[in-house]
Amino acid sequence: MQENLEILSRAINEWMPEGRPVVQAPPAAELEQMLDLKLSDEGSGRGTLEAAIQSYLHFNPDVSQAEFYKLLYSGQNKYALLGDWITSLSNATMHTYQVGPVATLMELELIRQWNKLVGFGDKGEGVMVAGGSQANLIGMMLARHHACPEYKTKGAQGKTLVAYVSDQAHYSGQKAANVLGIGTDNLIAVATDDAGRMRPDALAAEIEKSKAQGHTPFFIGLTAGTTVTGAYDPVAACSEIAKTHGIWLHIDGAWGGPILFSEQHRHLLADSHLADSFAWDAHKLMNVPITAAVILVKHPGALKACCSGGGGDYLFHADENADYNLGERSIQCGRRADALKVWLSWKAAGNNGFAEKIDFLQSIKADCVAQIEERDGLEMLAPANYLNVLFRYKPDNIDDEQALRKLNIEICKTMMRSGGPYVDYAQYKGRTGIRLILANTEVTHDHLERLLDKVQRIGMELSE
Ligand SMILES: *Cc1c(COP(=O)(O)O)cnc(C)c1O
Repeated sequence: MQENLEILSRAINEWMPEGRPVVQAPPAAELEQMLDLKLSDEGSGRGTLEAAIQSYLHFNPDVSQAEFYKLLYSGQNKYALLGDWITSLSNATMHTYQVGPVATLMELELIRQWNKLVGFGDKGEGVMVAGGSQANLIGMMLARHHACPEYKTKGAQGKTLVAYVSDQAHYSGQKAANVLGIGTDNLIAVATDDAGRMRPDALAAEIEKSKAQGHTPFFIGLTAGTTVTGAYDPVAACSEIAKTHGIWLHIDGAWGGPILFSEQHRHLLADSHLADSFAWDAHKLMNVPITAAVILVKHPGALKACCSGGGGDYLFHADENADYNLGERSIQCGRRADALKVWLSWKAAGNNGFAEKIDFLQSIKADCVAQIEERDGLEMLAPANYLNVLFRYKPDNIDDEQALRKLNIEICKTMMRSGGPYVDYAQYKGRTGIRLILANTEVTHDHLERLLDKVQRIGMELSE
C-alpha cells in the first residue's frame, strides 16, 4: 500500500508538471508504435508499470486545466477525487445494503436532494447509473413499462411503440431505442426552432401522425441543455401534449440539470416537476470523476416494477434491510459506489457552492459572447443560454458553407496540434462552428482573450 501512495505522489508531483500542454497525443497509430503496451506470459516489475503510468498520464488531455474547453466538464473537484479514491479502497458494491451500508444511505440522501431540486418532492425515487446515456435508457424503459407493462415478460406482441425527442437531442436516445427493442426508426427527431428548442406544434403533429398509422406513442424525451448549444426544451407546453395523450414525459438534464441550483438561472428549467422522470449527470457540471449519474422518477415503486427480476434466491434477502437494497431498482448487479464522491463534494460545497459556480460560469459565458460579438471575423451560430458557446471564424471573403466548415475544423486541429487551448467543432443547423464549453471556474477573461486571439490569428493565416 505504501508503494502505491508513493507512486500516486510522484504521479501528481512529477508526472503531471505545472504548465504542461492541455493536449498532446499524437494520432493513435503513431502512439501505438511509440509505446510498448503488449501483454505477455511473463509478469513485469514495478519499473515497467511506473513507466506505463507515466505515459498514460503524459498523453491524456489534462482535463483539470482552464483551457480544456472540449467536453462538458473541466477542472478538478478535489473532494470528489478523494471520494473516488476512497471508493476504490472500500470496493463497496451497491446491490444490497449489507455490502455498501454507508454508500447506500448516502445515495438515498443524494436522491432525496435531487428530487427536491427537480420538484418531484418526498415521494420521488431514483437510482444512480453509469452515465446520462444509461439514465435516458432507464427513462425510456420506464415509459415502455408504463405504456405496456406486459412488454417486460411477453415482448412487443406486434405493437409498434414510438418515442419522440428533438432533432438536437443526445444520441443516447438512439442507443436506448435500439437496446429496448423499440427500433431506431421509431425514434422521431422532432423539429426545433431557431434556438434549438423542440417545437410543441411539431411534437403534436408527429404524435398525430403516429396514431394515424396505428402506432403507440409512449415516450417524450425533452432535453434540458442540449449537447451542442445548451438549449432548453419548453417543458410546460410539451407536458400538456404528453398529458393529452397519456405519454410518459422524460427530461434529459444530463448537462443542463444543475441549473436548478441557481435561483438566478433556474427559470430556464422551470416546470421540471411536470416530468415523470429526469436524467442528471454528476460527472458533467458537478465535475465528479466519471462515472456518476442518476435517474429520478416521480412515481414511487416504478423503478422496481420495471427493472426487478431474479436474485431473490441468493442475493436480495427479505430481512430488515430489504427496503434499502437498491439492486432491485437497477439493471446492474455489481455497481460501483458512485455516491461517496458526489456526497463528499456536495457536503463540502453545499447547494450554495453549486449555485455560485453556475452564476459565475454564466457571467464568464456572457463575457465570452460579448468578446466574440465585438471581434472582426467571429460570429455566434446559436444563442448561448447556458454554458455552450458555438461560434465560428468567418472572413468577409468566404461565404461557402463547406469552405467555412473546412476552415473552422482546421482552426480546431491547428490549436490542438499546438497544445491548446483545447476546443472541439460541431454542426448546428447546417453550419459548422467551434464549440466552447465553459464548465471550469478557473477560466478568466484573459483565458478567453487568449483563445479568441488564437482563433482569429490561425483563421487569418489559413484563409489568406
Ligand atoms: C452527455 C450527455 C448525455 C450522455 O451522458 P453520458 O454520461 O456521457 O452517458 C446525454 N444527454 C445529454 C444532453 C448530454 O449532454
